[in-house]
Amino acid sequence: MYNIIKSFVLLFITCCSFHLFATELDTERAPVFELVVLGDSGGGRDGNLSAFLLRDLTDDKYVALDAGTLLNGIEESLQQNAFSALKIDTEKKLTPSINILRNHIAGYLISHGHLDHIAGLLVVSPDDNAKPIYALPSVNKAIISSYFNWQAWPNFSNRGNPPSLNKYQMVDLPLTTNVEIAGTSLKVSAFSLSHPVESTAFVIENDKDIMVYFGDTGPDELEKENKIEKVWQYLAEQVKSKNLRGIVIEASFPDNHPDKYLYGHLTPKWLTKELMSLSSLLDELAILKCTKVIVSHVKSSTLKGVDASAVVQSQLQQHNKLGLHFVMAKQGHKVLL
Ligand SMILES: [Zn+2]
Ligand SMILES: [Zn+2]
Repeated sequence: MYNIIKSFVLLFITCCSFHLFATELDTERAPVFELVVLGDSGGGRDGNLSAFLLRDLTDDKYVALDAGTLLNGIEESLQQNAFSALKIDTEKKLTPSINILRNHIAGYLISHGHLDHIAGLLVVSPDDNAKPIYALPSVNKAIISSYFNWQAWPNFSNRGNPPSLNKYQMVDLPLTTNVEIAGTSLKVSAFSLSHPVESTAFVIENDKDIMVYFGDTGPDELEKENKIEKVWQYLAEQVKSKNLRGIVIEASFPDNHPDKYLYGHLTPKWLTKELMSLSSLLDELAILKCTKVIVSHVKSSTLKGVDASAVVQSQLQQHNKLGLHFVMAKQGHKVLL
């Protein structure tokens, strides 16, 4: 036990001193964001699909980053005490999970229209309250035409096939422009990503701090559109005046998955290459070493006894020449950034 505490303290001091030497301005790395993992898997597991809640610790409302699994993820997170630091606004008649859904989620950021990123929002929509959905124009268009169309599902949006039930206000995000997330102290800038349909990276910031959430994405070297590079360039500029707190990004398959069957996803090898590109743009590697890299969207193996997430984690560590701080996203866990 003593050894564990000692290593933790050493790691903390090392990280803070790197950061101190790197910026000389920021000696404090107390967390400012809370990330709750509602769903960590990249498909297949219908109760555990891509979804996160993020809040500035000074806010009592989260923004949802994708919504593959909502209610089941909130219930798992309640069981694992992920909301223990939240000042819960209790409506006594409501179940605890519906209370979080209605009173503590300010809006949704949807990276793309694939079902594993929106199914939870669709099925809970009759029980939800009015909220904005923020997405790139092509993503909002896909949500309206594919789901809120009175065929796949009633039209809970304020666009598309009449009658509109007007529960969700669809907000088109312009590319690379700061937009306020209503009801929170956060702003978001959207960046396009390469995937079989257009996907999105959301850079989220307050006055001093910044993090980035990646929807599904293929590697720049295979996709040949340089879209991840544009996110890194923006971050490299921003970290001159803000603290980079976290990167949430996918590694869907282990390294032995053939490139031609990636269909717009990353492996540990490709994710490491992308992070190397970011590090080459930064003045100090210490900025990245103090940033948590939360790895999500691992596709479960269909083979008995194979834990795909453990394989991805060990491959990331094998490639980890930069000494980065990887955290595997796990449903119901809270990560402080
Ligand atoms: Zn996905
Ligand atoms: Zn996808």
